Amino acid sequence: MEQVSFAWTALPSLKLRGLGTPLAEPIDYYVLRMSWVTGWSVNQLATLMQDDREEGFGPLRPSCHIFGHRREAQISAFEQLSGNPDLRYGTLWVLKEVLNTKGLYRQTGVPRRWCPVCYQKWDNDTDWEPLVWSIPYVSCCPTHGCDLVNACPSCGKEQSRDTALGLRLRCESCDAPLGGEGTKTERAKFYDWVDQEILKLVAFCSTPGEQLVPADTLLQFAEEFENHARSKGILQKVRRCLGMQRGEAFNRSISLSALINFSALLGVSVIDLLSRPKEAMSAPLLDLWDGFHWLCDPFAEKNDAVRAARWLAKKVLARRGRWYIPSMRVLTKDIGVSASRLKAFDPESYGAYIDAYLKQCRPATRYTRGVAFAAARNEIEDQNPTNCTHSRMWWLPHHVEKVAPVNLEDAYYASYGAIVYWRLLAHAKSHAQGAVAAKEDIRWTESAQTGIAA
Ligand SMILES: [Zn+2]
Ligand SMILES: [Zn+2]
Repeated sequence: MEQVSFAWTALPSLKLRGLGTPLAEPIDYYVLRMSWVTGWSVNQLATLMQDDREEGFGPLRPSCHIFGHRREAQISAFEQLSGNPDLRYGTLWVLKEVLNTKGLYRQTGVPRRWCPVCYQKWDNDTDWEPLVWSIPYVSCCPTHGCDLVNACPSCGKEQSRDTALGLRLRCESCDAPLGGEGTKTERAKFYDWVDQEILKLVAFCSTPGEQLVPADTLLQFAEEFENHARSKGILQKVRRCLGMQRGEAFNRSISLSALINFSALLGVSVIDLLSRPKEAMSAPLLDLWDGFHWLCDPFAEKNDAVRAARWLAKKVLARRGRWYIPSMRVLTKDIGVSASRLKAFDPESYGAYIDAYLKQCRPATRYTRGVAFAAARNEIEDQNPTNCTHSRMWWLPHHVEKVAPVNLEDAYYASYGAIVYWRLLAHAKSHAQGAVAAKEDIRWTESAQTGIAA
């Protein structure tokens, strides 16, 4: 269909609200508003914006997180039909060359988040749901300071992001009001800093006329950074923070959490890092901020297994001594999370563990001890972990020496490793079920430690 042929349906020229401010309106909410005004459903509007060449695809739901060719085409079509050239500023379009969408979505989609106090005082004619509510790393309502929520306070059900404007204030399932007094969770100061940085970032991205941040921004910064980096340890930490391999170039897009972690690690504001990468590096900034924490997976529940995996990795590292530590693959398989998830959740613990694993002995010895570890483990698997001590299991190395078979030294390393590991694993698994992991996690985030206590 030629666009001119339905010029008669040209959309009302609604303006995007809050442009250039931290409370900018996201394109998805804008389309809901358009739907409210025109009586067209969001689906009908999205179909209207669809390019004919994309037959076979369902209509694309508008999203403020963008990226990709289809979304950009959709936004351009909306801009043309509403005579409003600024709609792209209701997304993170400005960052599309440097940022990927990792961590912004959950596997099951993007849940709606809202401020209960805002909802309580809502007026559809003057209020809108700001883009920052959709960024999972933002914890508080910028206006009221209370926690943003994503489930009905009565029945706990999550709410669709697509619900029409007139129906959004009540639960889809039990009809209870979603507004309320709001609560405020105690958090480390770091998270207030994160909220502020994201608010500034949204104001930046929503300023009409703002140009794309160039793809080589991080590379420019990194070159300068490498010149300034005083120790290899810091460079290594930065690489971990960005999820990069040793030697990999700084020229690919990163996740929002990596960008924020990177800025926090260096004590630079995100905007400075993006808009003046070289200048941001000119001051000797490499004294790490002692209030720094890793910004982790925002969708990890309190009792998420990934927390238990981190707990186990840190404990194994803290206790490591004259014994073998198993590979990350073994550890994550035992806990039941993927290694990549742990890596994204806490790149530093993950990286420290991998390093310790690789450095414990030569590759050939590591292999032999790995085999012996499996044999030792096989032997103690039926034991009650509390009975599993070095003195009670004095016979284990001799047994492993025969069954693996390996030399006695390797059998000792592997057996003692298996004994310590087995008890920690039992502990970690009980943590995963209970509140202990969450408590440990809060204690951990509250502590201002940046490294791992070895
Ligand atoms: Zn609010
Ligand atoms: Zn409900």
